[in-house]
Amino acid sequence: MKTTPSISTLISRRRFVGQLSVGAAAVSFSLRSRAQSAAAPKKLGVAIVGLGSYARGQIGPALKVTENCQLVGVVTGSPEKGKQWAGQYGFPEKNIWNYETMAQIADNKDIDIVYVITPNSMHAEEVITAAKAGKHVISEKPFTTNVADAERAIAACKAAKVKLSIGYRLHFDPVQQEFMRLAKDPGFGPFTKMNGEFSFVMPAKVWRAEKKWAGGGPVMDLGVYVFQEACMAAGGVPPIAVSAKAAPTTKPEIFADVEQTMNWTMEFPGGAVCEATASYSQSANRFRAESASGNWVEFKNNAFMYRGVRAETNRGPLTFPQVNQQAKQMDDFAQCVREGRESRVAGEMGLRDLKIIEAIYASAAAEGKRTLVRT
Ligand code: NAD
Repeated sequence: MKTTPSISTLISRRRFVGQLSVGAAAVSFSLRSRAQSAAAPKKLGVAIVGLGSYARGQIGPALKVTENCQLVGVVTGSPEKGKQWAGQYGFPEKNIWNYETMAQIADNKDIDIVYVITPNSMHAEEVITAAKAGKHVISEKPFTTNVADAERAIAACKAAKVKLSIGYRLHFDPVQQEFMRLAKDPGFGPFTKMNGEFSFVMPAKVWRAEKKWAGGGPVMDLGVYVFQEACMAAGGVPPIAVSAKAAPTTKPEIFADVEQTMNWTMEFPGGAVCEATASYSQSANRFRAESASGNWVEFKNNAFMYRGVRAETNRGPLTFPQVNQQAKQMDDFAQCVREGRESRVAGEMGLRDLKIIEAIYASAAAEGKRTLVRT
């Protein structure tokens, strides 16, 4: 009888194969370096647009440990903040722009990549400005606040022949990568039943609760992680239909403009179903996927974290060394730019997710009517 290898056997086998290939690469590298003392390729220059908490807490620090890129400029509404960043990261003050002068990045050869980290409704125009300046672009999630803007931004990048990627950092986490592999492994998946939630408590009104800046509520901001994960669990395909209902608003002083909590169901081709929630009035960070044969993976309370993503399975825990997801993502994008290939989290994936978001809002507006996701 054929037995299914355990997760740890699978992992150690892969590590062994990994070590073999690392060993082979080391030999070939040392031969090469003896034959030609090739200098390391130039790091690509990154300019960050928007110096808020994600830029300050994650992307700036990640750029100190990237191998293929370095921070060489910023776009900010605050000249003071710009000077602080220039001092801290060691780039010239001429590489500080504001939102009005951002197009002038076109004239600056130091900048190869523009990383957009502003409120959601600003992403589309900033991506287009960067593309017209001839720069490759990473846009934070959600890519834009509607499908039409996402299509315009993708078209601008294509016209300018620049690469575009969305800040979907979880694709660069080794535990999530193993989860994606298990979903496609016929000895473990396919997953048929999923549920997940990403929620946090918003104590006071900020731009995230204003439709003008955020485009929507927790579905836009947090729900995107849940259906990203559900699409991973479904083998990388999007849902065909959704049914959504917003929960009653209990804090109208904050949530006048956007939903406070949304519950929705996604139906995937082949019949897999995911129940999901995103909310600004409770705390959760979880995802679970089950297969018809009884296998399961569960991220209990750290599914969508920057560090420390952990999952249990019915065959044992998924344990991998922690990585800096953001540094991995930027290094990978720099390699895509160098090699002229598309990012695994390209603009099209951001567009796919906007189609899911629009279907969720359309269903909620129709009292939970089953709504097809545009293809
Ligand atoms: P933030 O409010 O901390 O920062 C926003 C920045 O944009 C600030 O520097 C602010 O000065 C600037 N800004 C320019 N015009 C503004 C305006 N009209 N209103 C408000 N701010 C304005 O937000 P953040 O948490 O850094 O989020 C920024 C983006 O990054 C969002 O799109 C968010 O979804 C995304 N994000 C992604 C992750 C991730 O894990 N991938 C995590 C956090 C945030």
